Amino acid sequence: MKIVIIGGNAAGMSAASRIKRKAPENEVIVLEKSGDVSYGACGMPYYVADLNPDIDLMRIRPVEVFREQGVDVRLHSMVDKVDREHKTVHGTCEGNEFTESYDKLIVTSGSSAIVPPLPGTELSGIYTLKTLPDAAALKAALSEDKRVVIIGGGYIGLEIAEACLLRKVKELRLVEAMDHVLTTFDDEFGDAAAAELKKHGVELCLGEKVTGFTGEDGKLTAVETDKGSYPADVAIMAIGVRPNTAFIDVDKLRNGAIITDTAMRTSDPDVFSAGDCATVWHRILKENVYLPLGTNANKQGRLVGDSAVGKQVCFDRAIGTSMLRVMDMEFACTGVTEKAAERAGMKYKTKTVKSRSHARYYPDPKELTIKLIYDPDTKVILGAQIMGEKEAALRIDVFACAVDRGMTTEELGFMDLGYAPPFASVWDAIQIAANASK
Ligand SMILES: Cc1cc2nc3c(=O)[nH]c(=O)nc-3n(C[C@H](O)[C@H](O)[C@H](O)COP(=O)(O)OP(=O)(O)OC[C@H]3O[C@@H](n4cnc5c(N)ncnc54)[C@H](O)[C@@H]3O)c2cc1C
Repeated sequence: MKIVIIGGNAAGMSAASRIKRKAPENEVIVLEKSGDVSYGACGMPYYVADLNPDIDLMRIRPVEVFREQGVDVRLHSMVDKVDREHKTVHGTCEGNEFTESYDKLIVTSGSSAIVPPLPGTELSGIYTLKTLPDAAALKAALSEDKRVVIIGGGYIGLEIAEACLLRKVKELRLVEAMDHVLTTFDDEFGDAAAAELKKHGVELCLGEKVTGFTGEDGKLTAVETDKGSYPADVAIMAIGVRPNTAFIDVDKLRNGAIITDTAMRTSDPDVFSAGDCATVWHRILKENVYLPLGTNANKQGRLVGDSAVGKQVCFDRAIGTSMLRVMDMEFACTGVTEKAAERAGMKYKTKTVKSRSHARYYPDPKELTIKLIYDPDTKVILGAQIMGEKEAALRIDVFACAVDRGMTTEELGFMDLGYAPPFASVWDAIQIAANASK
């Protein structure tokens, strides 16, 4: 069977590799528009921050390794049309057109940073952070004499803010159209992230919309909003991503994400999709949602490889577990937030508890804030959010297990979690929160 994969990063190369390991008799062609395959995009903020000086550390596996495995990787090959009736893909490679037939097609073309059509976006000095060349360009643009404006207060915007602070830029401002940053969390967590940014000297412009950019001699000089004009040498667009799916006409969500079932099948039985260009089935919300995370892309990528060669797979476990650091604070969430539960019309209760990262008689315990969302009748845990100065983020994984397994607050409260004074208290913060959720 001939399997064509469009897009060669996390999802696409996971799929290609999986097929060559488990069903090597299949021909696998990967069409990748850039010159890179298989890189850790999540590492880019830390490269920009110069916590990692070597861009090659983010290249997970070189293209030669895949080729040795028998994957026919074709770089600089950009697909612009899929003809599902004739089962062909059409595109260009370094100026030359190509058409490739397929028996099965896997679309793993990911997402692109959204750049809205505002006046002035063509000026130099405006950046996004999505690809390795983006990361190299942004890193080179930052220096201690630069006035920087970040547009967007989601997790990528906040990670970039940390990078800019670590690079000691002259002025740093973050403009966010909503009244809070980190809107995938409940507001009190966003407020804490905002306070952390302010503590480190970031000017926050919340509830403010960017209307355009002005410049001189083709170079950015200011970011314009509906409330002001801010002098800037560098502007970084971090307002989200959009699925790269214009070249194919299968069923999609309104934002263009390809709708997939739990076996990553699309509305066309010969077309599969995974990663940032596709939906995932949300275990708690019980619907197809768009959750463009590396965690999902890697799992779906591996499973879509199996699915395309006819194996039974089921990925119905996405619950949006995610984490980030903003300077001295860690934030993490899993399952549904209170906002999401409300939006979905779910019955829920919440409990917020503050406790310590570890025993008070061991040096430097830090406050942890945990918010649980749970079913008021069954006490099944639906979601959790956590923040604190240290030892906060990884605790979310225990809550993720609880949400995934449909555990009740009581079950979690009495789970046999480990304890020694440097790491936890005899009742860990997780259990204190669970036992308080009645
Ligand atoms: C700055 C940053 C930080 C992040 N941090 C985290 C994190 O901490 N945790 C987390 O879980 N996730 C994180 N993510 C998200 C994670 O990187 C993505 O979810 C993941 O890269 C998605 O992988 P993918 O293969 O689905 O898509 P992509 O990485 O978007 O790859 C798609 C590939 O398809 C290619 N392509 C696109 N269109 C075509 C076409 N028409 N023809 C041929 N090729 C095409 C692209 O060039 C690209 O190589 C972060 C993302 C960014 C940008």
